Amino acid sequence: MHSAATQSSQATIETFKKYVIPNYIRYPVSLVHGEGSYVWDAEGKRYLDLFPGWGCNIIGYSPPRVVAAIQKQVADLIHVPNTWYTEAQGKFAEALCTRSFGQVFFGNSGAEAIEGAIKLARLTGAPQGRHKIITFRNSFHGRTYAAVTATAQEKYHEGIGPLVPGFSYAQHNNLDSVKALVDRETCAIMVEPVQGEGGVNIPTDDFLPGLRKIADDNGLLLIFDEVQTCMGRTGTWFGYQQWGVQPDIFTMAKGLSGGVACGAFIARTEIAANLKPGKHASTFGGNPLAMAAGLATIETIEQDNLLEHVAVMSARFRDHFTRLKAELPIIRELRVRGMMIGIDLTINGTAAVGKCMERGLLINCTHDTVIRLLPALNITPEQVDEGAAVISEVLREMARSA
Ligand SMILES: *Cc1c(COP(=O)(O)O)cnc(C)c1O
Repeated sequence: MHSAATQSSQATIETFKKYVIPNYIRYPVSLVHGEGSYVWDAEGKRYLDLFPGWGCNIIGYSPPRVVAAIQKQVADLIHVPNTWYTEAQGKFAEALCTRSFGQVFFGNSGAEAIEGAIKLARLTGAPQGRHKIITFRNSFHGRTYAAVTATAQEKYHEGIGPLVPGFSYAQHNNLDSVKALVDRETCAIMVEPVQGEGGVNIPTDDFLPGLRKIADDNGLLLIFDEVQTCMGRTGTWFGYQQWGVQPDIFTMAKGLSGGVACGAFIARTEIAANLKPGKHASTFGGNPLAMAAGLATIETIEQDNLLEHVAVMSARFRDHFTRLKAELPIIRELRVRGMMIGIDLTINGTAAVGKCMERGLLINCTHDTVIRLLPALNITPEQVDEGAAVISEVLREMARSA
């Protein structure tokens, strides 16, 4: 057993069977310890994780500066509500806004960030009678009611209606389909700079600038959902900076506080002014623990030059998988932006996850056919090679039996 474990995976699984609502499909092991891109289960087996924490562990497991910042903060103050000022919230807010623009609101999750952004867009549009929001097919914005309504995938809507009124869905990478939906009641367009859960779908070069123009021409707000693309994921602090298109509002979560629960949105200051006292709140939002962790995450990315490192590691992954694509016709398309990687297959890729896990590698498969990797920004060249080798072996095996 790993020294951090007090019981076997099986013992933990039995407890879950009795007491935890079975709404997740879980791998049959209990994880007990992580360091960088490696994580260990209770039995002491080590995994290389190319999808650490669904992208939340943006600088890997137990990043030392984040651990130290949390340890220091936890001894001083764990939680203070927003009826008070704290140094930690001010410093993290400054660190985020000076790397982007505007002013920030803090919550605790991606869905909560989306809810807040939607509310702010409607508050801004209300004086002109505008409340409708356009989102995109294959998007993912979270599971709370407005966020899941914004998520234009039927499978997430089944059985939970009625949904929130006022949403309509355009085709990704299709500007005409957006124009067709705009009317005098539209207040905003919301899009992920790179669609994550929907299959690592990268926008065509004219798409985000085109959305900016449609928004400007029609007096709409442009909202980017950067829950997955924030904090250097794509190689710049925020995804919008890859395309040089500034949104009016953008959301963040996942890697925002290096693995500690935190969500936020940033808005241009003139728009942020519409969120007057009493209009919105979050009791845990901006708590000192998450703020200290977030600030230490930014310091780590900066001091370790991780944005430059991402460019090099991204190219290394791309080289491996470009060669593999030339070899295997089951690879339809390779989509890479920084540490966001999708290998789109002509066959169902779900089995690859289990096959990789047997070989000590953790990956994700989304949209049935897309092998998705969200590696830690500080992954090493050796780990890139190790992970790519296992994925290549598994995909070769699947190609033979396809
Ligand atoms: C994960 C995700 C969300 C939802 O975040 P939660 O923290 O699970 O609520 C929203 N938008 C995008 C783009 C995401 O990837």
